[in-house]
Amino acid sequence: MDSKVTVAVRCRPLMPREERAGAEAVVVLTDRQVSVGDPVELAARGSSPILGRNFAFDLVLGGDSQAEVHETLGVPLLRHAWRGLNASIFAYGQTGSGKTYSMTGGDGDERGIIPRVCEGLWDAADAHSATHETTVEASYMEVYNERVRDLLVPTGRPLKVREHPTKGACVPELTVVRVRGRNELAELLSVGSDARATAATRGNARSSRSHAVVSLVVSRRRRSGSSEGITEEGWWSGLDAPGSCTSTIRLVDLAGSERVAVTGTDGARLQEAKAINKSLAALCDVVSALAANSRKKKAFVPYRNSALTWLLKDSLGGNAHAAMLATVSPSDRHFEETVATLKYAFRAR
Ligand code: ADP
Ligand code: MG
Repeated sequence: MDSKVTVAVRCRPLMPREERAGAEAVVVLTDRQVSVGDPVELAARGSSPILGRNFAFDLVLGGDSQAEVHETLGVPLLRHAWRGLNASIFAYGQTGSGKTYSMTGGDGDERGIIPRVCEGLWDAADAHSATHETTVEASYMEVYNERVRDLLVPTGRPLKVREHPTKGACVPELTVVRVRGRNELAELLSVGSDARATAATRGNARSSRSHAVVSLVVSRRRRSGSSEGITEEGWWSGLDAPGSCTSTIRLVDLAGSERVAVTGTDGARLQEAKAINKSLAALCDVVSALAANSRKKKAFVPYRNSALTWLLKDSLGGNAHAAMLATVSPSDRHFEETVATLKYAFRAR
């Protein structure tokens, strides 16, 4: 039976620039519900967003800090990975809604899920180093127009995806780096993010038009002769550390979900928009089929409908622990895209 994908919604605050421009918040969060009011109705009736459209989710993150979001999504992911299960987080939403802020974030307290997961892995590896040897292998790729590009060694050349008889989809030419320490991993990822951003300024806002995928393969091996118990404090405390296990962590910053107007769009933009729509629709179909299977239905899971879902199959299905973080803007100006994001996330449950 497949595991259900956890669906979480995060609403960012109104930005000062938006407030100065007179934007109003039309999104209200309650415990497990997101309410969004139609700005026209709100203005006409002076009613509350609660009387608008309501959507229930597994997790609703409103004023949560980066540390709290990591506690809610990153720590469970680490716990699963430490047990030897694959684990992943996908950030979905329109451009400007907070995907990159949530996944990568900024400095200090603004650090996002990716740096915090990396730190957590190293903390756990250090805490268990007397009994276990942990290795981490990292790769960083971008899926753009159904093609894969390497972000660690960015050549710009598309890489071939092949079906491996046992491992499923793989990208044989993708650079995989054996990471030696916590700082090295952070540096590698920042090189990759810069590569993505540079491509973005040369072309048209490429970074919001591609899916960025960080993969961390974590392997743990018990050192011979050691049988020490675990006493450390932390998210890993009290966890059984098996003799040896390997798991893949995937952290995905998806392409912006906004609909691109088809009229007046040139060929390249149109092809790009079609590729994004196709892959995001395929992801939703896969996640909702997995949700059906977790309710003991026998739905066919259509992994092969896009490069994204084909590549990430082992991070989504089986006993993988996957979470989708749908990010929304509270602004009345983004009302339609916010409703579209909530509908997408609701359908994926
Ligand atoms: P996306 O990656 O979805 O296009 P970003 O993550 O770049 O969006 O966010 C857009 C802007 O909003 C950035 O300036 C970011 O710092 C800010 N932002 C997003 N989410 C939050 C949040 N939860 N709290 C504070 N600022 C946020
Ligand atoms: Mg972004």
